Amino acid sequence: MNITVFLGAPGSGKGTQAKQLSEKFGFVHLSTGDMLRSAIKQQLPVGLKAKTFMDQGNLVPDSVMIELIEETLSSVPDDTNVILDGFPRTVPQAQALDSKPKTKVSQAVNFLVPENVLVPRLTGRRVCPNCGESFHLVFIPPTKKDTCNKCSTTLIQRSDDTEEVVRRRLEVFRTQNEGLVSYFSGHNKLINLNADKAVNTIQDELLKILKQ
Ligand code: AMP
Repeated sequence: MNITVFLGAPGSGKGTQAKQLSEKFGFVHLSTGDMLRSAIKQQLPVGLKAKTFMDQGNLVPDSVMIELIEETLSSVPDDTNVILDGFPRTVPQAQALDSKPKTKVSQAVNFLVPENVLVPRLTGRRVCPNCGESFHLVFIPPTKKDTCNKCSTTLIQRSDDTEEVVRRRLEVFRTQNEGLVSYFSGHNKLINLNADKAVNTIQDELLKILKQ
């Protein structure tokens, strides 16, 4: 398995890029946030364990997340190019991946975006609860107000995209990120990416990185 991890603040564009790369180029996109939201919707035990942490903008405990990702990766074929979006978020999570030959990380792309653009990006985000498509009130408005362009479902705001929770998520990110960045940099796996650019420009740069 060839594993690339996307590091970066909430709202830095990791999910948007990973989704497009999987749709256009066949990368397998695994988002731990999406997995947890789906587990909550289906009322699975892992979702019930995670919900309170997520609603408060806190991290779900490492033990829960490591078990979830190990279980998911165990069913992915060896010859797959995987993008991990939202995992690892802590050094113990990174170590857990690297400790197994099958799930060793090949590279970590660090999405760099100035902090002042993150809050409006996140609080203005609206998502489709049916197909998962993401919009923004100002930057990517749907054609018909509050309605998904793809499946016509009414858009919602993620419960953790309110301003108060967003600020907490960014605080949590700041405390964890330095350790993660030095972990991957110390293992010569860190690639810094200026992600404050147009989506297509970033995608071209990512393709070059991923095809190396
Ligand atoms: P995301 O969709 O990546 O922004 O994740 C939404 C929320 O899910 C986060 O704020 C955390 O509460 C939880 N979460 C997702 N991935 C992880 C992880 N690797 N470790 C801990 N919590 C996570």
